Amino acid sequence: MVYENPDGVKIGLEVHVQLNKLKTKLFCGCSTDYHNDEPNTHVCPVCLGLPGSLPVINERAVEFAIRIGLALSCEIVEQTQFHRKNYYYPDLPKGFQTTQYDYPIASKGKVIIEGEDGERVIRITRAHMEEDPGRLQHIGTIEKSKGTLINYNRSGMTLIEIVSEPDMRSPKEARRYLDKLRSILDYLDVFNGDLEGAMRVDANVSVFGGERVEIKNISSFKGAERALLYEIMRQKNHVRRGGEIVMETRHFDEARGVTISMRTKEAEHDYRYFPEPDLVPLRVAERAPEIQKALPELPDARRERFLRQYEMSNMHARALTNEIKVADFYEDVAGKVNPKDAAVWVADILRGELNYRDLGIDAFAAKDIVTIIELVTENRITEQSGVEVIRTILDHGGKPQDIVKDKGLLKVEDDIVAKAVKEAIAENPEAVTDYLGGKEKSLNFVVGKVMQKTKGRADAREVRERLVKDLNDQS
Ligand code: ZN
Ligand code: MN
Repeated sequence: MVYENPDGVKIGLEVHVQLNKLKTKLFCGCSTDYHNDEPNTHVCPVCLGLPGSLPVINERAVEFAIRIGLALSCEIVEQTQFHRKNYYYPDLPKGFQTTQYDYPIASKGKVIIEGEDGERVIRITRAHMEEDPGRLQHIGTIEKSKGTLINYNRSGMTLIEIVSEPDMRSPKEARRYLDKLRSILDYLDVFNGDLEGAMRVDANVSVFGGERVEIKNISSFKGAERALLYEIMRQKNHVRRGGEIVMETRHFDEARGVTISMRTKEAEHDYRYFPEPDLVPLRVAERAPEIQKALPELPDARRERFLRQYEMSNMHARALTNEIKVADFYEDVAGKVNPKDAAVWVADILRGELNYRDLGIDAFAAKDIVTIIELVTENRITEQSGVEVIRTILDHGGKPQDIVKDKGLLKVEDDIVAKAVKEAIAENPEAVTDYLGGKEKSLNFVVGKVMQKTKGRADAREVRERLVKDLNDQS
């Protein structure tokens, strides 16, 4: 199956990742742990851009950036240099953003995604370091607010901007790329993706080989997919009506699900980039080998290993390696019970129950799922009861053994089931005759009688099997 891409859709993404696991900001010693604090409490002359203050580079931030570059299969530049990107806006009182321009720290990489028609390589143009500006806030909505407030806690946080080539052919591929990127960054332990503003996306999109339009203000991955779907439709309709697509920047209105024209896009020369005289060039490539050696096993490698080592399906391998926490959890469980059982219980059942409740894997203890799997495989509770135990723990807490006892979930002994089956056959001759005469459904009635006799503590599937066997032996 080859994906034809009939509308010639080309999507490129620029993702700003906030390296919020660093302890301090990019050019000053202010703490990055501001997310629960009052506005403007994590600031100093440097990140407020006061005249005369001087930046000092955070060595660990450079290390993180190299780590990300290597994980994206990029080349690490011999020597990098920061530039000033000049623009006037209150989120950056210096009047410029300190960023990297013609010597980005990393370039020419790739990310492999599951595309519309199989594996697909998305090329990474570059990944560069820059400082985060402050955050504008409004009281109520932007239109009704009496003014604009500025919080500089975020100002000077380390960002890495990852720019892709326009290699994605549908909003779905864009979404998969974002998920994959997040997964890789998650493995690298460089950021906490749950914090507000940890990953921010701008998208470029064109159709039929026309001009590209940039979409800003996308706040979530789902938002990215929606914004792109809308924008592609808008461009196609515009072209069909004889219109021309102009290069412009549009704003995504999340609430209405539409993109709105903001301005014609400024060209690069408008920013008057020039080398930052307060920061010396940094020789970085020489650090790469040692950082490469310390890289953890990344999602693709771990998925391959899961396939080989645990002989699971591709779908399970993908589901179990997407998040590093889930992968670790699985391996913990797979070390104690049959890995194949563990894959089904963790990937399908437990994750399903967690997703339904919008919970992460940390909401469940590995030792509890081990106990449940053991109870089921030792045939002491039914699979359905196992699911019930998971649900009970998630909704009310408790230990598997106690729940099994309290709810009377232990399966009845084999000989009791055998006796109940014999009785049910003897007491319901009509249903038995119907069944033997070809009315398959009549068996359900007899199964129901056995379940009544065992107070629901027998496994319905086993009861059915035993009934079929007993009746066939009889006839
Ligand atoms: Zn500061
Ligand atoms: Mn940027």
